[in-house]
Amino acid sequence: MPFDRVMTAAVDPLTLAHHGRHTRVLAAEDNPVFQSMLRSMLTKWGYDPIIARDGAEAWRVLAAEDAPRLAILDWMMPGLDGVEICRRVRAAGREPYIYILLLTARTESQDLVEGMEAGADDYLTKPFVAHELRVRLRAGQRILDLQSELVAAREALRVQATHDNLTGIANRGAILDSLRTELSRASRDRRPVAVLMADVDRFKQINDTRGHQAGDEVLREVAHRMKSAMRNYDAVGRYGGEEFLVALPGCDGDGALAQAERICEAIGGEPFRAAGSVFGVTCSMGVSWRDPASPEDADALIREADLALYNAKALGRNRVESYAPELAEA
Ligand SMILES: [Mg+2]
Repeated sequence: MPFDRVMTAAVDPLTLAHHGRHTRVLAAEDNPVFQSMLRSMLTKWGYDPIIARDGAEAWRVLAAEDAPRLAILDWMMPGLDGVEICRRVRAAGREPYIYILLLTARTESQDLVEGMEAGADDYLTKPFVAHELRVRLRAGQRILDLQSELVAAREALRVQATHDNLTGIANRGAILDSLRTELSRASRDRRPVAVLMADVDRFKQINDTRGHQAGDEVLREVAHRMKSAMRNYDAVGRYGGEEFLVALPGCDGDGALAQAERICEAIGGEPFRAAGSVFGVTCSMGVSWRDPASPEDADALIREADLALYNAKALGRNRVESYAPELAEA
């Protein structure tokens, strides 16, 4: 198909209807004639061109927070040349990825290996046919799109691996990681950390009499109420079936008990609505702490909070108990 036919075709495969807005492209070129050529070509093809007149200006644009993701860099420019900018962009190792197309003169072709090793993705030898640049840019855009999809998929996997899919809060592995992180930090700062173990009272009965769907709704609502009653630097996770673990950085015994009472009240204070009925749900809670805390305390803190939780159950449920050494002996 002749060149001008491609440009005017009704359905143009190269048209950039990208995310409803124009893709920004950096074009770094020291020759004023090439500058205005690049500007008009890019605009015509639906890009939003940012023109840099030398290497230093190009680097400023690419080093900025909101840098364009496509860059056309002339190899030979005063100050910083295109290859050096490639090197710097790759050394910064940033995300999202910046796709770099290097413009070379015929005489530089033998050094192309150097340019590609510096981190360029593709090159074009000047003088070039406009359509060729257009196709190369479209290929670059496609690679950037694929990269965005990979980043999104990776992020979705990370969320899936660290969150409980019923309640949306941290899962067991992630809350244990948070607890260990808080213990390490507290040990450096010589500060206390408390652990709170909460268990929904008579949860089996809820499941048996109101159905598993109601049970699921209760767990979601308990998680939601716990989160709303917590300070934003506390961490909560689903530890087991109807068991939740909370890490309370900076809390000694009194502080932890006060936090636990608040959370307990947030759950038991208002009725739940699930599976078309309204009913009360309560939690029992056990609390333990170290002042100052150390990373080796994780297992013991959980064991102690668990013992205190059993004590709260034994003493009639819907209450908070703190760990005492007698519990371990009993
Ligand atoms: Mg030049």
